[in-house]
Parts: sequence; C-alpha cells; structure tokens
Amino acid sequence: MTTLKDKNPGNVTAPTMALKILKYPDPILQRPGEPVTEFDAGLRKLVADMFATTYASQGIGLAAPQVGVPKRITVIDLSLGKDPAQKLVLINPEVIFSEGKQYEEEGCLSFPDIREKVSRAAKVRIRAQDENGKWFEMDGDELLARAFQHEIDHLDGILFIFRMSALKRSLNLRKIRKMQSEGAW
Ligand SMILES: [Zn+2]
Repeated sequence: MTTLKDKNPGNVTAPTMALKILKYPDPILQRPGEPVTEFDAGLRKLVADMFATTYASQGIGLAAPQVGVPKRITVIDLSLGKDPAQKLVLINPEVIFSEGKQYEEEGCLSFPDIREKVSRAAKVRIRAQDENGKWFEMDGDELLARAFQHEIDHLDGILFIFRMSALKRSLNLRKIRKMQSEGAW
C-alpha cells in the first residue's frame, strides 16, 4: 500500500488510479465525445488516470469515452509505459491529412479477446491540443498511424468492429454474444 504522502510529497494532487473500462455495447462508446474547453487540474488528473488504466490493461491507447467520460481526450503510448518520451496526450484531435493504406490486426480494450485486421490509412497527420491547451501537429505511420485513427474514431463514437468487413463483423458479434451468454464478457 502506498500513501498519498509517499507518492507525492508536498503535492495535493490525488494519486492516479486505474479506471473501469466500458465494454461493447455500452452506449457511451457509440456517442461522439464533447470538445474539451477547460484545461485544468481535473483534466490532468483524468489524463494521468487514463495512462494508469492503459498500462494496467497492457494497452497502447485509450479514449475517454472508454472510461465513461464522453469527451474528446485520448492517450497513446506505444512503449507500454516503458519510455516516458512516447507518452502522447491528444485533446480535441483531428486527422488533417492521410495517405496510403495498411491492413493490420487491431485490438481494443473495450473488446477483450477480439483481434481482427482492419483497413486504415498508412500515414496520417493529426492536429491536437496538449494538456495545457496548446495546439500541435504530429505525423504518424505504421502502428502510430493506426493508433491515431483507432483512438480518434472512438471520439467520434466509431468502434473498430464497424471498420471490419461485414463478414468479420458478424463473426465477431456472434463471438461476443456467445461470451456474454457464458458470463465471460
Ligand atoms: Zn479501442
């Protein structure tokens, strides 16, 4: 057990904690997120908790609607918490340029045990605000481009299952229904 004093000496910020991740078909996951307008301590706490949630689940990205917060916030860390330089916070992000195609396997923390190939742009440029509200642009390709597109989709209420072919989608929905009926979802 760690106390607040041990973790943050002289700091009143509450300790970070892993949040509960909503699973499909929770309706919040399919609702577009609201733009963020307040860049305050509450936002920074949420972002810290979102990173903690991502690492606890061995994920590389998480969007706020997945933890029940219908706002345009996502965190990405391809290093799984090993390299602080790879921590990305995207507030109000949008794809402003994309090119090419890639077709690789994806998973989603709101769809445990489902992995499927999904078609995405090969390269994207995004525009987003950081935790202080400052706008920046960033390019990504390969896995980072997929993470950008997957997470920004979440903020528009679009889940990766809707990016699959109709056949793969129906096979995966059937698998989910089976897991639900067995209490394994
Ligand atoms: Zn996801």
